[in-house]
Amino acid sequence: MISKILIANRGEIALRVLRACKELGIATVAVHSTADSDAMHVRLADESVCIGPPPSRDSYLNIHQIVAACEITGADAVHPGYGFLSENAKFADILEAHGITFIGPTAEHIRLMGDKITAKKTAVELGIPVVPGSPGEVLPENALEIAREIGFPVLIKATAGGGGRGMKVAKTEAELEEAVSTARSEALAAFGNDAVYMEKYLGKPRHIEIQVVGDGEGNAIHLGERDCSLQRRHQKVWEEANSPALDVEQRMKIGQICADAMKKMKYRGAGTVEFLYENGEFYFIEMNTRLQVEHPITEAITNIDLVHEQIRVASGNGLSVTQDEIQFQGHAIECRINAEDPRTFVPSPGTITHFHAPGGLGVRVDSGAYAGYKIPPYYDSLIGKLIVHGRTRAECMMRLRRVLDEFVVDGIKTTLPLFQELVDNPDILSGNYDIHWLENHLAGDKSH
Ligand code: ADP
Repeated sequence: MISKILIANRGEIALRVLRACKELGIATVAVHSTADSDAMHVRLADESVCIGPPPSRDSYLNIHQIVAACEITGADAVHPGYGFLSENAKFADILEAHGITFIGPTAEHIRLMGDKITAKKTAVELGIPVVPGSPGEVLPENALEIAREIGFPVLIKATAGGGGRGMKVAKTEAELEEAVSTARSEALAAFGNDAVYMEKYLGKPRHIEIQVVGDGEGNAIHLGERDCSLQRRHQKVWEEANSPALDVEQRMKIGQICADAMKKMKYRGAGTVEFLYENGEFYFIEMNTRLQVEHPITEAITNIDLVHEQIRVASGNGLSVTQDEIQFQGHAIECRINAEDPRTFVPSPGTITHFHAPGGLGVRVDSGAYAGYKIPPYYDSLIGKLIVHGRTRAECMMRLRRVLDEFVVDGIKTTLPLFQELVDNPDILSGNYDIHWLENHLAGDKSH
């Protein structure tokens, strides 16, 4: 049994995990940098430990300090949230060596999915459909041959990739050489690894991802999909469940393929299998072996608390539900509220002078922000997530429009006005958008 969880994260996700622990009667330890002493997750935790100065590498990424904090407080498990150390296999190994439970998959599974070429090979072996592409690494000397086989346009991607970095499109043979060399040097700069691979470039796909949870013993379920096509620079902005593009049959089919794959792997914990979806076909791009930012929309339509499930399976108590018991109810949308200028997306740190979160039926706000809170400039700009749920997509939109009018965040710039525009846009209302829609429709944003 787990009796005390150290939450190795900050911001809204630290609070999210803390809430689940409280419900389960598990004691909590917050860790924080000196920049986050006043943060809500620190205030609400049973205990807190300062683990270093503001830069993440000295605090939230400092494995040594986090292990020391576990030992000082007697925490017997760590929840990593998302980002930071959540997909760091070495961290999982070190915790295990100290007899501390990592609330997540095995280090082996994190490694398997962390390298994109291995992940794709594994997906093929597990029966998951993938984007046609190179079987392994692409080198400048074999790039043309492989590209001709796949057919132009092609996309060059970093094996160690993340956050859309190290990705280059080559539309024609003439563009290939430069695309490969730029992708390799960007990958080397960003990840210290210049290995790249090649995929067919899909023109107008949607980004659709499947939520899975496994118990590590060969039982696994899926909780349907999320449509995260509305992105800017490969960063998700608005997510919905279910996808406006899928029907029940397609949902259950791709969901079952993913659940079966997780059973075969004996996957433990929550995970997300990400696909591009075009012309009725799914193409695997990667798997995230952690909780996602957008997990609350899945919780809204299934009524299942994913953090509870993560803690249950990490404790060896198995899943609380079977596939047959899961019912998908209504529609949910998440808007990511970032401390950014809604037009230029330039970060806008500073002090929040007024903060009023909306309420009412079908409304959830996950945020560590409050009036008087000073947003530190060192971390990502997500200050909160607004999640609305309705019986239908139309009801959800209606509710979202009302809720956006109620939300007040003063003193800084936020992306709230962007959502006010989106909620009245005919393409969004009809669900007619792909992964390029947002960048093509952002007025005044010429920076991409
Ligand atoms: P990262 O780990 O860097 O986020 P992903 O493989 O998850 O990389 O891809 C990120 C985004 O890049 C996708 O959501 C999609 O918008 C775009 N993308 C990735 N692969 C392709 C492809 N083969 N064709 C078109 N777009 C792609």
